[in-house]
Amino acid sequence: MDYYALPIADLIEQFSKLPGIGRKTAQRLAFYILEMDKLDSERLANAIINAKEKIELCSICCDLTDEDPCYLCKNESRDKSMICVVESAKDKIAMERSREYKGHYHILHGVISPMDNIGPGDIKIKELLNRLEDDTVKEVILATNPTVEGEATALYLSKLIKPLGVKVTRIAHGIPVGADLEFFDEITLAKAMDNRREM
Ligand SMILES: [Zn+2]
Repeated sequence: MDYYALPIADLIEQFSKLPGIGRKTAQRLAFYILEMDKLDSERLANAIINAKEKIELCSICCDLTDEDPCYLCKNESRDKSMICVVESAKDKIAMERSREYKGHYHILHGVISPMDNIGPGDIKIKELLNRLEDDTVKEVILATNPTVEGEATALYLSKLIKPLGVKVTRIAHGIPVGADLEFFDEITLAKAMDNRREM
């Protein structure tokens, strides 16, 4: 790092903290930014600051939003009797793209993973259970990813939710084990939603 002026070294350092960015890519991005138009680089910096400042979690579904409740929770035309539980905001967007589902969502922000020290209290399970307190919700669709952790989290949730008298279903996976929802096409996701089974 000694070869670089300190501000460049710092920029490379910050980029290399991002997921999937190795040292070389971090260098490439840093130099790209240095060659950018000043206005464009300011837009980039402001977009980062702005997103961090304005985005919060929806107090109902825990999605990332700049207004609380989020646009989907406020949307009266969505079916209030269904909640589709997903791991991340990205998975919710993937599900929305399938245009198959008209209910509400709940974003867990992770899965239970003892190996990584992530327990039930570390993800948004309490918030989900709060939503089931009145009897508006008739069905909870568990759409966690078909990984070991995703399956274990689905099983854990079904054991908590079923005694509340709410129907619990799991989306069908024409999706291989170990895969991530965000990488599936609309048709696969729509089918998975269609073929969901009761847990
Ligand atoms: Zn919401």
